Amino acid sequence: MTLFPADNRYDSMIYNRCGQSGLKLPAISLGLWHSFGHTDRYENARDLLRCAFNLGVTHFDLANNYGPPYGSAEETFGNILKKDFKSYRDELIISSKAGYDMWPGPYGNWGSKKYLVASLDQSLKRMGIDYVDIFYHHRPDSETPLEETMGTLDLIVRQGKALYVGLSNYNSDQTREAVKILQSLGTPCLIHQPVYNMFDRWIEDELLDTLNEAGIGCIVFSPLAQGLLTEKYLERIPEDSRAVKDGRFLKPEDITREKRTKISLLSEIACRREQTLAQMALAWIFRLKGITSVLVGASKVEQIEENINTLERLKFTQDELTEIENILRQEDS
Ligand code: NDP
Repeated sequence: MTLFPADNRYDSMIYNRCGQSGLKLPAISLGLWHSFGHTDRYENARDLLRCAFNLGVTHFDLANNYGPPYGSAEETFGNILKKDFKSYRDELIISSKAGYDMWPGPYGNWGSKKYLVASLDQSLKRMGIDYVDIFYHHRPDSETPLEETMGTLDLIVRQGKALYVGLSNYNSDQTREAVKILQSLGTPCLIHQPVYNMFDRWIEDELLDTLNEAGIGCIVFSPLAQGLLTEKYLERIPEDSRAVKDGRFLKPEDITREKRTKISLLSEIACRREQTLAQMALAWIFRLKGITSVLVGASKVEQIEENINTLERLKFTQDELTEIENILRQEDS
């Protein structure tokens, strides 16, 4: 059995400053969206967390509704925290979020003060902790005044229930407005959490510039497009993959012939670089200025090990970047 926690856990991870804040985050963080619900195997969840921590991952990302059922990922995390990480709370950055559907009725969704305060209280209880390190508003709410939502993030920090606050899924204009309000309240926005990967590049248009100008960190979610940017779907859809186990978000019909062609061509470049496609897809994200961390998910310990090994080869030649660009820009027929 591997020793836990490993004495050398801080030897090879890269820690990046989060925007212009005092906080550093690991270049690779672990998200608990999948694999940590009550429907998942507890022992596997525990192994994933132990493996990640042993390899220098200090940041674990949750949300009120991760599971299934909703809330169960926080419960699983709380149980493991109590067992394995009790004396290491100060070595961890734990985040949670609220903004999506959580409980029935008008107060269990979106961005009101009523919802956010109650939701964070529930999250803290489920995880058995006094505070989260980062609390996010999970998505913009066009009906609640932004002043109310941002005012609540400020309140939560002043109450000591979160150390920092962040935004997720806000576009560039919404981010600018929210950041201004937070600034005026004296609680700066620490970080933004958008989706970004080879198949979804929307942050390149404007958001990343906005974040860099404002000195805000950026942690990108679904960097492997939920597992598409690996070799696993090249030939068939494996039984133990997300597309089969939980077809809600990555649907088998999303794995098109065009996607498979691109994945296969990308995989050839990765092979020449002596990397797996997953590793190349993660490394490629760091070519952008202002990326603090990539937030991966995992169903197996080996995936975490493979993904963290990415850090051994982050650099690309100009020719490789051009070749990748040409593949990604090929029109789907
Ligand atoms: P990824 O794109 O990293 O996909 C992770 C999945 O890909 C794994 O569960 C596994 O699926 C597969 N995988 C990972 N590594 C490998 C590998 N090396 N080889 C083969 N397969 C691999 O990220 P997620 O979509 O899971 O998102 C990551 C985190 O981002 C979430 O946990 C959550 O914290 C956050 N998130 C935030 C959102 C937001 O709105 N703010 C929305 C979505 C996610 P399998 O083995 O089961 O096929």
